[in-house]
Amino acid sequence: MAPLGPLSSQRPLSGILIEHECPRCGREVELPFGEICSHCTREIEVRARKVGRIVALSTTIALAVYILLRMPDQPTARMVGGASILAWYVLTGLVTRRVLREMLK
Ligand SMILES: [Zn+2]
Repeated sequence: MAPLGPLSSQRPLSGILIEHECPRCGREVELPFGEICSHCTREIEVRARKVGRIVALSTTIALAVYILLRMPDQPTARMVGGASILAWYVLTGLVTRRVLREMLK
């Protein structure tokens, strides 16, 4: 990333840009501007994980059923099918959590 000059850096301004309450829950804490408190961060993380797991699991089950029904009865096909189901579960979980973390802020 190219340097954007002293104004875009938060460091010299951090003395000014301090919030005294969390913009999300209103708890009184000192935070850098635009940040949320640790309580909210934890709450968001817990919800994101929970929903992420539900989304990943339900879509993975649907995918697994589809793959099992369509898959030719060969060891290689079974291996590739299994690997793609696993990859789908991991990726869906990661993406959903990431999206939720941003949405819940
Ligand atoms: Zn908060």
